[in-house]
Amino acid sequence: ADKADFVLVFARTDASKGRDGVTCFIVDTNTKGFHVRRVVHTLRSSHYATELQFEDMRVPNANILGEVNKGFAIANERLSRQRIPYAAACIAVAVKAQELAVDYAKQRETFGAPLASRQAIQWMIVDNEIDIRTSLWLTLDAAHKADRGEPYRMEAGIAKLVASEAGGRVVDRAMQIHGGYGMTKDLPFERWYREMRIRRVGEGPNEVQRHIVARDLLGGSLR
Ligand SMILES: Cc1cc2nc3c(=O)[nH]c(=O)nc-3n(C[C@H](O)[C@H](O)[C@H](O)COP(=O)(O)OP(=O)(O)OC[C@H]3O[C@@H](n4cnc5c(N)ncnc54)[C@H](O)[C@@H]3O)c2cc1C
Repeated sequence: ADKADFVLVFARTDASKGRDGVTCFIVDTNTKGFHVRRVVHTLRSSHYATELQFEDMRVPNANILGEVNKGFAIANERLSRQRIPYAAACIAVAVKAQELAVDYAKQRETFGAPLASRQAIQWMIVDNEIDIRTSLWLTLDAAHKADRGEPYRMEAGIAKLVASEAGGRVVDRAMQIHGGYGMTKDLPFERWYREMRIRRVGEGPNEVQRHIVARDLLGGSLR
């Protein structure tokens, strides 16, 4: 937000109406009362978050995106749709980690034989492949449904949660296969390890994805 010309603010405009009491505002960052209080650093070293403060800030009616109290649907649609590329990005990291693990297992010899000949290593590589392919098919399924205009919220939630958890496991196994070398900053694993950890929380934490799936399976009565 410290570099943006405008931000979208989802604000509660009717405290008594739950999700029907949220409005989306387009707020110019040079509006009087808009402050970036501080930069917040996270596990992701390439980006940072910002903490905002709104002090007696007034936003004109013209800056309402959509209608008053209809902001939740805008956020919900954006969040659901975004979970599909978010899952795909986890798979991209997992595929590259697996590629490095396979190459290294063939090349590195211990006790007179390549790592690739050891069943313990083979099984890690197999489990990686299963995690990658499972994530891929679930993500394609969600993308296919979204593209066709079919309901896809549950599929997107499942894809995001499986791909983020599987991606973390794949990176972890690839690091293990690389031994001490895998812990160094010479290789991208430690960065991916941090990124995969974020992805279980970002774009809606995985507990919330499970909640979305439960609600779709068990009915809208669940809050
Ligand atoms: C690096 C980073 C980048 C981000 N970038 C963006 C961004 O670009 N745009 C954006 O809008 N947001 C962004 N976020 C915010 C992110 O989407 C939220 O942090 C995330 O959705 C979790 O919300 P919260 O932090 O309020 O956690 P909370 O809602 O406070 O949840 C805390 C914990 O409780 C669990 N929990 C919450 N409710 C329930 C429940 N009902 N049942 C069981 N468990 C529950 C959660 O799963 C979580 O583990 C970013 C976060 C990070 C870390």
